[in-house]
Amino acid sequence: MPYRAPVRDLRFILQHVAGFAKVAATPRFAEATPELADAILAEAGRIATDVIAPLNRAGDLTPARLENGAVVSSPGFAEGYRALAEGGWVGIAARPEHGGMGLPISLALAVDDMLSGACLALQLKPLLSKGQIEALEHHASEAMKALYLPKLTSGEWSGTMNLTEPQAGSDVGALRTKAEPLGDGSHAISGQKIFITWGDSDLVANVCHMVLARLPGAPEGTKGISLFMVPKFIPDAEGRPGARNSLRVVSLEHKLGIHGSPTCVMQYEGAKGWLVGEANRGMAAMFTMMNNARLSVGMQGVGVAEAALQQALAHAMERHQGATPLSAEGPILEHADVRRMLAAMRAEVFAARSIALSCAVAIDMAKATDSADWQARAALLTPIAKAHGTDIGCEVAHLGMQVQGGMGYIEETGAAQFARDVRITAIYEGTNGIQAMDLVGRKMQDGGEAAFRLIDEVQRGAEAARARFPDLAGEVWQASEGLREATEALVAQPLNDRFAGAAPYLRAFARVLGGDAHLKAALADPDRLALARVMIRRILPEHAALLAQVREGAEGLYAVRPADLAG
Ligand SMILES: Cc1cc2nc3c(=O)[nH]c(=O)nc-3n(C[C@H](O)[C@H](O)[C@H](O)COP(=O)(O)OP(=O)(O)OC[C@H]3O[C@@H](n4cnc5c(N)ncnc54)[C@H](O)[C@@H]3O)c2cc1C
Repeated sequence: MPYRAPVRDLRFILQHVAGFAKVAATPRFAEATPELADAILAEAGRIATDVIAPLNRAGDLTPARLENGAVVSSPGFAEGYRALAEGGWVGIAARPEHGGMGLPISLALAVDDMLSGACLALQLKPLLSKGQIEALEHHASEAMKALYLPKLTSGEWSGTMNLTEPQAGSDVGALRTKAEPLGDGSHAISGQKIFITWGDSDLVANVCHMVLARLPGAPEGTKGISLFMVPKFIPDAEGRPGARNSLRVVSLEHKLGIHGSPTCVMQYEGAKGWLVGEANRGMAAMFTMMNNARLSVGMQGVGVAEAALQQALAHAMERHQGATPLSAEGPILEHADVRRMLAAMRAEVFAARSIALSCAVAIDMAKATDSADWQARAALLTPIAKAHGTDIGCEVAHLGMQVQGGMGYIEETGAAQFARDVRITAIYEGTNGIQAMDLVGRKMQDGGEAAFRLIDEVQRGAEAARARFPDLAGEVWQASEGLREATEALVAQPLNDRFAGAAPYLRAFARVLGGDAHLKAALADPDRLALARVMIRRILPEHAALLAQVREGAEGLYAVRPADLAG
């Protein structure tokens, strides 16, 4: 079955779960009226469904390749990318003064959902440009903004993000790429970066690399990292791509999935680069780009999960295997176990999508109001949205294969492609383990205050639902109380004990937020009650086992010696 963008669910969640009306009520986003939001979702849905989704298979079967040092894209990607650029989708959240639409992140993220469900490999290209646009808006000089932002926003040029080196993955502070001042305001950048997504492209006139590097005498670790703009072609004063810069693609990685997205080893050989933001403050500037990208990557997981679910459902409605409890010759959808898988998939996708959109609403509210509380909410939800959205992406894609039996495992149907493609989302943009550590570390530096405020809100929501759905509301309330107690215990622990329970804690938090989202949905629309029951009665109870791990600390893990692991 062809992919169909989930416009209806996105609209419903924005309206009834994530509280998008608050965003539209701010002066900053006054233009994002319900009518405009509807029009944006409908048009992006149309492009995702009709233009981008048909490219997904070609990207898998005919990967991007390197010819004479240049990337050649998968068939059809040029037309697909052009449709995205010409439709203004790269600049959806960019500032209008540079040609962007200036729309809230909430709407941009909904578009990310649909485009990544349609074709993850191609969606990565505008995703990276969007992150770069935001980093430049915040940290670049006016001259750099004027030179780069209009081209990036229109999609004529594209952006990349260069952190990773062979010895510096999660530990970005270990990077060695050098930046030597050339005395004319530019720097010579030298070093190797690996795993660079869309590090070269035949779809655009210029590729703008954001590169992390060290200035001479810079302090060790992350405190000595600076951010540079290193274009493939050095723009002249009019902004036309000019001289070829001293950088090249050494090779493309062969990988499990996203074959249409070229993953490049990049060599910088004294390439000209220009400082973005302050010297030695590159991590702060890069974080702007990474925060944006982290949430979008979380939504990539949700988008692919949606596509995998749609395909599995279509199969389950057509495939017949023996008598079912409901009819003599019904489809496998009528078997309880198949229904269980599909119901869990839909409940999970709804919950993860709601968490991501709630995070986006918090980001928009923080931008529109400068409120510290909204900022803290956005910061708290970002690692949850990233890690949970992508975990669910992987799990739902695997369930999708299970629903389709052998047809799910063979490549022809495309079910396996979803599972292969989405797997990277749990790894890049900070592994999900690193996200969980961020949640229990940096995001709990306030003693858990932002978390407690969110738990209070969940409990108020449950109280409000108690009259109509006493059992479901009671279970969400109880689970959130368990989360509160575990959070109190967590913030009292030494850091490494927190880290030992970080991933289960993050998942338990997401379980509670998922219960809350489904409860709100059932209140707004009784047709959503059955799925809310699935989430709250069958999936939410998992929180108790997860929270038990939070209290265990690290000692028991280190008690397992390497020799024990060797078996
Ligand atoms: C297809 C693809 C595209 C990518 N695109 C880009 C890109 O465009 N730009 C870019 O810069 N990078 C990119 N990356 C790199 C990606 O972000 C890294 O692979 C990722 O951050 C993990 O780093 P690593 O691979 O070195 O793993 P490692 O850092 O070696 O991690 C291995 C394991 O150890 C764990 N771990 C590491 N440190 C800690 C710690 N302190 N505490 C607890 N656990 C820890 C990790 O969670 C993980 O489970 C891409 C990678 C791939 C495969």
